[in-house]
Amino acid sequence: MKFISTRDNGNIVNFSQALFQGLAPDGGLYIPKEKKDLSQLINSFSEKTSFVEIASEITYALLKDTFSKTQSQEIAEKAFTFQPKIVNLNNKISILELFHGRSCAFKDFGASFLAQSMEVLLEEKDKKAVILTATSGDTGSAVAQAFVNKDNIDVIILYPSGRVSPLQEKQLTSIGSNIKALEVKGSFDDCQRMVKTAFTDSDITEKINLSSANSINLGRLIPQSFYYIWAYSQIKSSKSDSIFVVPSGNYGNLTAGLYAQSWGLDIKGYVAATNANDVIPKYLESGLYSPIPSKHTLSNAMDVGSPSNYERMASFFHNDVDNFKKKIEAFAIDDKQTKNIIKEVYEKENYIMCPHTAVGYGAAKLYQERHSLSNMMVLSTAHPGKFTEVIEDVISVKPELPEELKKLERREKISIVVENTDEALKNYLLTTY
Ligand SMILES: *Cc1c(COP(=O)(O)O)cnc(C)c1O
Repeated sequence: MKFISTRDNGNIVNFSQALFQGLAPDGGLYIPKEKKDLSQLINSFSEKTSFVEIASEITYALLKDTFSKTQSQEIAEKAFTFQPKIVNLNNKISILELFHGRSCAFKDFGASFLAQSMEVLLEEKDKKAVILTATSGDTGSAVAQAFVNKDNIDVIILYPSGRVSPLQEKQLTSIGSNIKALEVKGSFDDCQRMVKTAFTDSDITEKINLSSANSINLGRLIPQSFYYIWAYSQIKSSKSDSIFVVPSGNYGNLTAGLYAQSWGLDIKGYVAATNANDVIPKYLESGLYSPIPSKHTLSNAMDVGSPSNYERMASFFHNDVDNFKKKIEAFAIDDKQTKNIIKEVYEKENYIMCPHTAVGYGAAKLYQERHSLSNMMVLSTAHPGKFTEVIEDVISVKPELPEELKKLERREKISIVVENTDEALKNYLLTTY
């Protein structure tokens, strides 16, 4: 499979180039050049097929010009030491738990695959890379955990000061070793802009072999298609016409789902669930895409006012809002509704969900009010134990923290505080490397 930039389809690259460049030189995002038909392979999977097997087979089918069958297998086995899990809440809604990885969020899937792929490709070339990434909460810790102690890769993570939960901050700042946390005095959009600018600044890129690892990187996006395919193989014998509900911020997760569908995943469609950062629901309503400054909400990993993967989706749908609407419905759930949902689901189903998952659940309910369809699967993007403050406030029960995260509470925070300017990041990079 070859890839092109959303802004210049004459710029054709292979997977390795797309992986290490992150962003295309013209500022666009890499997307698959041609549509692949993997429907035969996807339909050959059953509920007995393991997640690793699906990951390995899809990797090889998509990327055989980059990875051999053995390498695809090795990447899948090393990356996915954890699994997704399906929980049937009731006969209408099930939850696809994606938080059983090291950082207890779905981003572990993308980050782990990216790290293993990069390691394989760097070893082949005997090179060193610096990963630069912005996080609104969970990306950073997933990336940090995926890359820690890799010999030939340093990781620099930018995060908005005061806008990630205390635990998320510990996850970013306490790892040390080859992982460096930059605490930016600004918003996530600032962090994202600073990273984007650095990638287009030749003073930096000529000196440093920069790579990205946030949701714009194809190496993160592609593996996020695996769990849709796995979940579908798990349920297809018993349920038809499935709809996946995707709690969305930068829309990488949803874009991966759209790609899976275009490769032959036979599902009915997707529901995009957002918080008060409702640019996509507004866009589907009005046909006008108007990014906004990001708003702070309880589901803070989705506080994105200018979702970077809009550009990929727009290209996927040929910039036609009507095409968009055929595949996706979108709903916004505010903080008050989010709290009510956490409470309701706990009381009715005895299940504790994180605020992001609650946004997804709320959107599923709204969708069901509009249509009579019942078979919905809500992606659960983070472990509720990562959001103890919110959850305790709502249900007066403190969710159990996963073991991995308990250890972090005792560790020391080490961050480098920087201004929210492109110059500040440039200075840091050029003086450090
Ligand atoms: C990143 C994140 C999201 C949003 O995912 P996108 O791919 O950016 O749309 C949702 N929930 C959690 C917990 C996240 O960390």
